[in-house]
Amino acid sequence: MTTGQIADMLRSKGLKVTPQRVEIIRFLQTHRTHPTAQQIYEHVLRKVGSVSFTTIYNTVRVLEQMGQVRKIPISETGAIYDIDTSDHGHFVCEVCGSVYDISYEVSFQILGQVKRTELVVYGVCEKCAGKDSATDIKAPS
Ligand SMILES: [Zn+2]
Ligand SMILES: [Zn+2]
Repeated sequence: MTTGQIADMLRSKGLKVTPQRVEIIRFLQTHRTHPTAQQIYEHVLRKVGSVSFTTIYNTVRVLEQMGQVRKIPISETGAIYDIDTSDHGHFVCEVCGSVYDISYEVSFQILGQVKRTELVVYGVCEKCAGKDSATDIKAPS
């Protein structure tokens, strides 16, 4: 999305186009790291100079309602935001907090219609498993 398209999108939702809001969207588009609201806040603050938490929350909520962003609840860090709204799950490293996209397939036996699934797998990522500190995580024998 170009800055112009971002601006049009905000306007169509009755939101004023501010440098803060544009930066929130641009950050989500260019950093596919699944940021938390706190990380979005810190980035926009660095870039634009001033921003409130309310602006962050309101903007991501509008994006979520428009289907442009997915909010995924993570038990360690709170919710993360993903601009990739395709069906995929997440692997969360309990050591470094990194979030990785994973693909999976499940078949459900549900009487009704599945609207969406939310899969979060917790573990230790490859990078952290290679470190000595990872031995702390092993279950006691
Ligand atoms: Zn890790
Ligand atoms: Zn993702």
